[in-house]
Amino acid sequence: MLEFTPTALPFLASFMLTVGLALVAAGRQTAAARTFSALMVGLSVWTLCYVLELCSPTQEGKSLWVMAKYLGASPTPALWFVFCLQATGRADWLRRPFLRGALTFWPLLTLGVVWTNGAHGLMWTDLRLEPGLPELQTKHGAYFWVYAAGIYLLMLISTGLFAQFYRTAQPLFRRQGLLLTLGGFVPLAGRMSEDLFGLDLLPRVDEVIFFFLFSGVLFALALFRYNGLRLVPVAHHLVIHHIQAGIVVLDPAGRIVDLNPFAQALFGLPAAEVVGARPADVLKGLNLGSAGEVFGDELTLTRGETTLHFSVQRSPIGGGLGRDGGQAVVLFDVTERREAERQLERLARIDALTGVFNRRHFLERAEREVAQSRRECLTLSVLMLDIDRFKGINDTHGHAAGDAVLREVARTCQSRLRPTDLFARYGGEEFVALLPGADVAEATAVAEQLRQAVEALRIEFAGQPIRVTLSIGVAAFSNAVHTTLDSCMQRADGALYTSKADGRNRSTVAA
Ligand code: GH3
Ligand code: MG
Ligand code: MG
Repeated sequence: MLEFTPTALPFLASFMLTVGLALVAAGRQTAAARTFSALMVGLSVWTLCYVLELCSPTQEGKSLWVMAKYLGASPTPALWFVFCLQATGRADWLRRPFLRGALTFWPLLTLGVVWTNGAHGLMWTDLRLEPGLPELQTKHGAYFWVYAAGIYLLMLISTGLFAQFYRTAQPLFRRQGLLLTLGGFVPLAGRMSEDLFGLDLLPRVDEVIFFFLFSGVLFALALFRYNGLRLVPVAHHLVIHHIQAGIVVLDPAGRIVDLNPFAQALFGLPAAEVVGARPADVLKGLNLGSAGEVFGDELTLTRGETTLHFSVQRSPIGGGLGRDGGQAVVLFDVTERREAERQLERLARIDALTGVFNRRHFLERAEREVAQSRRECLTLSVLMLDIDRFKGINDTHGHAAGDAVLREVARTCQSRLRPTDLFARYGGEEFVALLPGADVAEATAVAEQLRQAVEALRIEFAGQPIRVTLSIGVAAFSNAVHTTLDSCMQRADGALYTSKADGRNRSTVAA
């Protein structure tokens, strides 16, 4: 019944290749891969029937295989288009009832027209075996032109979509986009060169099959070699491009494979230099907040005068199918929030009028100092300081003058203490100092220095010189193990009271 002809050989090889591609793609999980598999099944049915057409010696035999050929040939353009939509991230188009209907109805219609052609001749009006030619020669019927126009339209649209995908693709998808675009263009170019310019590459046979096969191979490369369609769909491209946050995509080995413009600006390097590098190397020039992992929970970048703070969010991507995926690192600029927090913290620690620590912060820090001194068996002293007859200054010169005095006294005392000493406004016109490492003698000496410095002050206010003095109580931790901060401060306060009682402008050591 069949007679093998060498002309069929390349088509037989093509058939085996398409079957292979269909099988490989069938194992994949993505919708595009499944559609691709169906496309390859359609193409292999088409090719096999064509092989059988070529190998049939009689016109009846050939006609039978021509009819059967359309089982594969009629759904191929529709599957092609569906694949294009899925591969370029436009699968949502397929939810439109009209497009769904058209893509289902059209192959069925073509098949119906072909199989009932004998009754109406819409697909071909004449099917004839001519001597010396391996395939049947046809005269096209009216429906053929509808069919051909439909294929053209779908090919044009899909080539446009592939090209747009390529143009807007992130570096990660570039190669894939190029392969898809090429694959999409090949059959269109082949058909157009033949239909418009009469350039028939293989005049005696149907080379369209080879064009589709070539496309299939390119698509398969895009899908499987470049792991296509398993990462972020390209529809998200615009969001990623414009979001006010840095997005860095890392591969499973922790190398940067992609980053958005915000992240590029952040690193201050062009994408080409960053892609393929490790974040630690890219950020080497910038002061990192923590020496350890580059992307912890927070990232601090210092460039020149500016310091930027980022909160870091990491989410795994890719993976699946038992593979290790990469991760997407999202960097949110939280600099303003950090600055505001810092400002609030500062306000909570600092006395607004004098700029020295407030009582709350003093007590907090002092407890820590006491605990440490106790652990290390070091001495530590406390001074309580109170401005003498301060009420009189308010009464004589006004409240604003009193404020100026408070500021000046605070500044004077603070400037005469060591950086390790803790000085604070304790309330009203009362101050407190904690002197780590100072014994009674040293603390008394410091108290005297402060008292003399304040006594020597001439505070100018509204042209009037104001003079003030300090009364001070000194208390030391006689034995760090047995004394609490509270009791030490009470003893210093008692000594201050003695200084007042003894005539003011003096310091007294607690008993
Ligand atoms: P003594 O020598 O016994 O310490 O007398 P004094 O007048 O300094 O003590 P007293 O406690 O009687 O008065 C403290 C005054 O400090 C009363 C209060 O109005 C004033 N004062 C407290 N806080 C402020 C402030 O923030 N600004 C001004 N200008 N005055 C304040
Ligand atoms: Mg006072
Ligand atoms: Mg007082």
